[in-house]
Amino acid sequence: MNFLLDTPYTMSQPTHAKIHFNEQGTPIASDFDDVYFSNDGGLAETDYVFLQKNNLPNRFKTHEHTAFHIIETGFGTGANFLLTWLKFRQFKANHPNATCQRLYFSSFEKFPLSYADLALALATHAHLKELCDTLLASYPLCISGCHRLSFDNGSVLLDLWFGDVNHLLPQLKSKADAIYLDGFAPSKNPDMWQESLFSGLARLSHQDTSIATFTSAGIVKRGLQHAGFTIEKVKGFGKKREMLTANMQGNLNAGEALTANSPKEATIIGGGIASICSALALCEKGVQVHLICEDDGVAKQASKNRQGAIYPNLHSTVNDDSLVYVHSFLYARRFYQAWHKKGLNFAMDWCGLLHLATNKGLELRQEKVIGRKLWPDMLVKGVNANEATKLSGLTLNHSGIFFPLAGWLSPQQFCEAALAYLNTLTHFSITLNCHVKSINKDATTWQLQSDTATFKCKNLILACGSKLINFSQVHPLPLNKIRGQVSYVSSTTMTPLKTIVCHKGYITPSWEGLHSLGATFDRTATEAFLSDSDDNENLALAKDQLQQPLWLNDVKIKSATAGFRATLPGHLPVAGKITGEDNLYVIGGLGARGIMLSPILAELLACDITQEPSPLSPNLTDAVSFARFA
Ligand code: SAM
Repeated sequence: MNFLLDTPYTMSQPTHAKIHFNEQGTPIASDFDDVYFSNDGGLAETDYVFLQKNNLPNRFKTHEHTAFHIIETGFGTGANFLLTWLKFRQFKANHPNATCQRLYFSSFEKFPLSYADLALALATHAHLKELCDTLLASYPLCISGCHRLSFDNGSVLLDLWFGDVNHLLPQLKSKADAIYLDGFAPSKNPDMWQESLFSGLARLSHQDTSIATFTSAGIVKRGLQHAGFTIEKVKGFGKKREMLTANMQGNLNAGEALTANSPKEATIIGGGIASICSALALCEKGVQVHLICEDDGVAKQASKNRQGAIYPNLHSTVNDDSLVYVHSFLYARRFYQAWHKKGLNFAMDWCGLLHLATNKGLELRQEKVIGRKLWPDMLVKGVNANEATKLSGLTLNHSGIFFPLAGWLSPQQFCEAALAYLNTLTHFSITLNCHVKSINKDATTWQLQSDTATFKCKNLILACGSKLINFSQVHPLPLNKIRGQVSYVSSTTMTPLKTIVCHKGYITPSWEGLHSLGATFDRTATEAFLSDSDDNENLALAKDQLQQPLWLNDVKIKSATAGFRATLPGHLPVAGKITGEDNLYVIGGLGARGIMLSPILAELLACDITQEPSPLSPNLTDAVSFARFA
């Protein structure tokens, strides 16, 4: 395969910062000849300029909303974020019952530091070591758009927007309570300090928004004033004569201020991975959740497969479709790792995934994905048949692409472990064995009717996979229902398999003695029955696609599961408000990617319901919206 065929595509990913360290050990941006933080190595200047001059952490105590939102221009080494995180953590420990429960920190970065440089730069903050290590463990790949990182059980949410702040700021919708106007000095970085930056920040300000910036340069003073801010010159840090603060009294322009004050409640209809992820996201934001499931337990339908693969579907351009998949993938990886670390007991293995080019069309598509060099090697790289063989541990005859960060997890175990955790929360309840037949709106309340009971709720989420179409409110959705069977097989010769191998179907490494061999596509079935012929089909497909490898000869089929995938034309899922209905939400059309898509889409719904900053940009929110079908 020739991976260097094409000319580079113009819409590229951000590039890493080039940095070096001065004699005091302070990181310097080589292209800007400016420091990331002050030469004393400490965070005293950060504390003085950005926290104290925004009256933080004092304002957390009196904040009247459940979330406090800070916007920062220039994430750099994350020093401002880390100190703010520490102060918010201390505030929460000292004031557990304060109204303000969460910190959202939206930071923009055009030239992200590489992981290695960030690790070096953060090594100076010895007293913040635990926070630095936690940040480093989640630090995202250099891919454009918003990366949501969640810390301290969801009480600190860092939205790292990679790209130019002047391009990205229009994508932010939630107003800020405080703004850290950082960035290299205007004389060294004039491109950033444009009118669009100041007007963008004005749009994202409400009457109590404060701004602090290290500089008092004329262009910044005039820019802020012209955008409508009242500025004040105050004493700068240490030997610096002055810096600026600003606020916008009486700004009533459009934008979404954080208004999550009243206690919220939501009911979810479903019982698979999408429902469970929605319940986790909502409960984490303090929402009272009632889950209604028609089965006698969770993950009894499409989510009951033993092992589900998690990897993104990449295109050869950085388009919205690819970005939905990539951000969902990276978010899901962090999400499952975090829940695993918090003690949920479920099987998962980030063993990597090979997607083999088993036909010419696929080979050409993969050549474009790799040849255009749009995605970091850590996300995907091209491999020849020898490399594929080495990576997988079994002889493979095709070249392909390798996703080093991909893996699999047991969705059923995850759902069951998450339910056990949710059941310990006082603001979660579940009703099992309850089939909701219809839903109707009565003034401000949704009424849910089962054979034996009526339930009421304000916010309702439909998350019931292929059964969504039972509700007339979702009827504009052109949902396809495709039965799929996965076969569970034992094999001695396949034991060395180390990675997931995808062809037209897929094979997983063994877990508790069984490999998963998937999956059939049956568009006509109306029941999720099990069939021997589907098992034979799965095995025959693998043999045919992989050119009859000897290691498939001793395969013995042991068991299987079958379920319905619900897909939508174009293959992107749907998540968000149902057009024309108040407080009615849907999450669905997840196809075979429910494990990967559910975490971020659930967070999207939870933020919509609580009116907190969204984890997806408006472009990506539109790409998965119900409105595209309405
Ligand atoms: N706040 C940072 C910290 O706590 O380490 C230090 C910020 S450093 C002084 C300035 C940062 O602004 C650099 O990381 C730089 O790459 C970033 N930057 C410069 N121009 C930018 C732009 N147009 N959009 C987004 N970030 C930009």
